[in-house]
Parts: sequence; structure tokens; C-alpha cells
Amino acid sequence: MSGIPSKTDVVVIGAGVAGLAAARRLAIAGREVCVIDASEDVGGRIRTDKVDGLLLDRGFQLYNPSYPEGISVLDLAALDVKSFSPGVIVSIDGRNYKVADPKREPTWAIDSLLAPVGKISSKLKFARYAIGVALKKANSESYDQRTDAFLVAKFGKELTDKILRPFLAGVFLEPELATSKRYLDIALKAFVAGTPGVPSAGMQAIPNQLAAQLSSGSIHLNVTAKAVASTMVRTDQGDIRCRSVVIATNARSAALLIPSLKVPASNAVTTWYHIADCAGTELTEGKSTLVVDGKKFDGNLDDSSRPLVNTVVITNSAPTYASNGRTLVSSSALGVHSSTQSELQVRSHLASLYKVPTGNWTHVATYPIPDALPMMNAPHDVAQSVRLSTGVYIAGDYRQVSSINGALASGRRAAEALLTDDL
Ligand SMILES: Cc1cc2nc3c(=O)[nH]c(=O)nc-3n(C[C@H](O)[C@H](O)[C@H](O)COP(=O)(O)OP(=O)(O)OC[C@H]3O[C@@H](n4cnc5c(N)ncnc54)[C@H](O)[C@@H]3O)c2cc1C
Repeated sequence: MSGIPSKTDVVVIGAGVAGLAAARRLAIAGREVCVIDASEDVGGRIRTDKVDGLLLDRGFQLYNPSYPEGISVLDLAALDVKSFSPGVIVSIDGRNYKVADPKREPTWAIDSLLAPVGKISSKLKFARYAIGVALKKANSESYDQRTDAFLVAKFGKELTDKILRPFLAGVFLEPELATSKRYLDIALKAFVAGTPGVPSAGMQAIPNQLAAQLSSGSIHLNVTAKAVASTMVRTDQGDIRCRSVVIATNARSAALLIPSLKVPASNAVTTWYHIADCAGTELTEGKSTLVVDGKKFDGNLDDSSRPLVNTVVITNSAPTYASNGRTLVSSSALGVHSSTQSELQVRSHLASLYKVPTGNWTHVATYPIPDALPMMNAPHDVAQSVRLSTGVYIAGDYRQVSSINGALASGRRAAEALLTDDL
């Protein structure tokens, strides 16, 4: 039995990072909080499986230590984020080019400028733009547009198609770059300010740390909310009477609880994990550098012979992800794929991206994730209302932007709205 209480101050539905951030803020303000989650563990979309000495995140994702919300609610030192390289390797016609911000990866400066991914002047213009965005205090622009339209107009088609699209498709999880330019700026600001990586104990260390800040007994797992009113949550384990509710589920589940709520569709991704049959030092110079295919979006947004949107040798930066010095490679493709045929196509694409035979690599897991990121098509409101009515509040990345920082911020905002209403 989950032992849910029959009565509490606030019920938070969902123990992803949005719900946990809301619960944390409410608990600090002295509210009695009951967090319920339908799943068997906390974390929502940030879960890590421990399998045969491997840490397998459910879908490749990175944490950026510069996320402002994370700085205020997480113990970053304890999280021990293992940074990846602050650049990407672009594979074009059998050659790999290293492209990075020259200030952070000075030895890559010449490579970055000479890589055949657009004119030098376009690259410098893009670098200046990214730094300018990072220096801006807030995203104050009222006009929004599609990212692809902005990039092509400002930096040219070649730089867009050969590097920006391959890289950003893996961030937005969509190849057209219909995503809001407002979000592009938010993402660029984070990339310039900090170098993303993974916690040494796996991505789930992030929600685990938030959960550990709540008093024991306040989180109830394997409990599904079935209906919501401002003073009561009906669950599959019984009713909980309360003074208010924070709905911090994913978008699709929120729409089941509140049918009038408009929620966005989602982008999907599939991540494959392989153990390579060579030392990590033989791949990407022993670093964890994202490898993208500069030809993937050459006039065709869906080329099945080049399925991967990115791949990385995760253990080069985070050796804790595989015991006994094994080399763990994480590779992702847009969409949902689970067939044996798709794994073979991935393996062949990996051979061309890393320039090593991959026939003897061991496939350890595939994670197809249909609802990975809520779409943020332009125009996108990056701070949507979190108050549904007095007593019912709503949090989740889809209320803000589709990232850990967006989810954390939405949770904090929902809690603050509730506290402002003094419930
Ligand atoms: C593959 C992948 C890669 C990503 N990459 C990055 C990245 O590199 N950087 C980054 O910043 N972000 C990334 N993200 C996004 C980030 O993980 C999410 O934005 C964030 O985790 C969303 O948190 P959330 O709390 O809003 O929602 P969720 O994590 O979806 O949590 C919702 C919770 O609600 C629970 N729930 C649903 N319905 C009910 C119900 N009826 N009753 C009870 N409980 C319910 C669910 O079980 C779940 O635990 C990625 C996401 C994925 C999936």
C-alpha cells in the first residue's frame, strides 16, 4: 500500500523535476505537501537504469550547470557533473571536423574556421551572435519566428544545413527547426554560459537530489491521479482532500485530467547504447564530444541510411557510466524506432561517423521515447500561466520551455502563484 493521506495542504501530481521543484518550494513555505506519481520511482523523463554495471539514462540527455534554476535548488558539487567537450565533431564526406567556441577549445580554432560548413564570415557572425545573446539579461524580444528562417537569413544556408541544423535537430528533437527562435536564444545562452555534461551517478541523480530535500513520507509512488478538483484529488488508491493542487504531469496526462487544457504535441527520440570493442581513447580523441553528420540534412530530412542525429562516447567523460573500463556509446535518432533492422542501420552509421568497424560492438539497450519533448513551434510563450483557477495550479516543461531548467522554473512559479493566493 502506498499509504496516501486522506488530507493534506497541497497535493502535487507528478514527481518529475517540475513537481519536485514545486513541492520543495511549498515545503520551504511551511505547507504540508503530498506528492503522488503514477510511476515506481521519481524523475519522470529523467530516469537512469542500472544494468550489468552500466548507467543507462532513459534517452540521451545532458545537464547544463549554468541553468539558473538548478543553481538555486541543486547541490552541484554533490551532483559531480562530468562535462562533455564544448564543441561538436561534424562528419562530412569521410572527414571529421572539430567545431567549437575557440575561447573554450583554443586548439580547435583553426579546424573550426576551416571546416567546410559555411563561410568563415558566417561562422564569425554566428559566434558573435551567440555571445551577444549570452550577454543579454533577459529574452525581451516580442517578435518570435521559426529558428530555420532566422538562421538561413542571418548566417546562410550552408552553415545552417551543415552544422547548425544537425546540431540543433538533436536539441529540439525535430529537423525542420520550426522551433521558436526565442527558445534558440535561451538554449544558446545556456551553451555559452556553461558546458553540459552528466552527473557521475547518472541523470536521475538530479530528481533524486530534489526528492531528498522533501520530508520523508511526502512522496507516494505507484499512485495515479484520476480526477482533480480544487479541494480534492481522486486517485486509484483513494481520495485526498486538500486546500490546493499542483498538476505537474507531462502534457498528455494533464490534458486527461483537465480536458479543456490546450497542450502541445511532442517530439520523439530513440537512444541506442552500445559497448565498443576498443578503448575510449581510440574514439573522438578520448573525449566525450558530440558527433553529428554534416550530410544528414543535405536536401533530405529523413534519410534512413543516416539515422543518427548525434552520438557520443559517454564514458570518456563519465567513466562511472560503465564498470571495468568499458566504452559506452550513446547514439540517438529522431522518432520512435525499435526494430532489429534499425539497430543495424545505426551500427553502420556509427562505423562511418567514428571511422572504425562496429560489427563487434555489443548492443546493450534501445530506448524509444515517444513523448520526449513538448513541441515549441514559433510563436512560443516561454512563461505560460501556471494558475488554472484559485486552488488549481499547473507546472511542467510545456508551460515554459522543454528543458530541465524550464521544468524547474515552471514548478517554482506554480508554487509561488499558490503562495501568492495564500492557500
Ligand atoms: C530523451 C530526452 C532528452 C532530453 N534532453 C534534455 C537535455 O539534454 N537537457 C535538458 O535540459 N532537458 C532535456 N530533456 C527535457 C527534460 O528531461 C524535461 O523537460 C523534464 O524532465 C520535464 O520534467 P517535468 O517534471 O515537466 O515532466 P515529467 O518528467 O514528464 O514528469 C511528469 C511526471 O508525472 C507523472 N504522472 C503523469 N500522469 C500522472 C497521473 N495521472 N498521476 C500521477 N502521476 C502522473 C509521470 O509519471 C511523471 O513522473 C530531455 C528529455 C528527454 C525525454
